Amino acid sequence: MTSVAQNVARFLRELEGEAAAHARPLPRVVAVTKRQSVEAIAEALASGISDIGENYLQEARDKFASLPPARKHFIGHLQTNKAKAVVAAFDVVQSVDRIEAGEALSRAAQASGKALDVLVQVNISPVERFGAPPEQAERLAEGLRALPGLRVDGLMAIGPVVPDRDEILRAFEFAAKTFDHIGGSTLSIGMSGDWREAVRAGSTMLRIGTALFGPRN
Ligand SMILES: *Cc1c(COP(=O)(O)O)cnc(C)c1O
Repeated sequence: MTSVAQNVARFLRELEGEAAAHARPLPRVVAVTKRQSVEAIAEALASGISDIGENYLQEARDKFASLPPARKHFIGHLQTNKAKAVVAAFDVVQSVDRIEAGEALSRAAQASGKALDVLVQVNISPVERFGAPPEQAERLAEGLRALPGLRVDGLMAIGPVVPDRDEILRAFEFAAKTFDHIGGSTLSIGMSGDWREAVRAGSTMLRIGTALFGPRN
């Protein structure tokens, strides 16, 4: 059995190789910790990972309490009635796909005196349920930038799950183009199954679960 520490070391090595091979900057790695144990997450945080991502608020709260400090990213679907608790538990919300979610986060951030980093989630995959349509992304980013308490720092997208690697690359290149229009410093694309294509398209942030932790419980 390989340990999380070994997986992290191997992944970061492969990532350096891929980024260098395509003359791309080295993306930051967010370890996606849904359905992983506190022990496994702590091991990742001791092995060179400093960012973690969770999809579900309650699960995150249960685990965060017993973890060392990390930059925490909310990557799940945001329900507006949970905005206050999400702002309290997380540093970044990557999954803002409609202005109502941004407004709820803005109110919560202001109430807690916090500046919250947010990304616009854009839908680039026909089977994905969430994410703003790409043609509305720029306007959504503008609307979010007008809200106090939020710092719009870029784009997040989930790649299409298809066998054709070129199709994945094209979808990510399209996301990168949309990111250029939105502005900011974070292009969050790439997961365990498609991070190489994401790196080639200019990803600055990968969200990696199974490649670091193995299959989810
Ligand atoms: C689960 C999840 C990931 C990580 O997926 P892996 O394939 O395990 O790397 C990344 N991003 C989002 C939004 C997720 O829900």
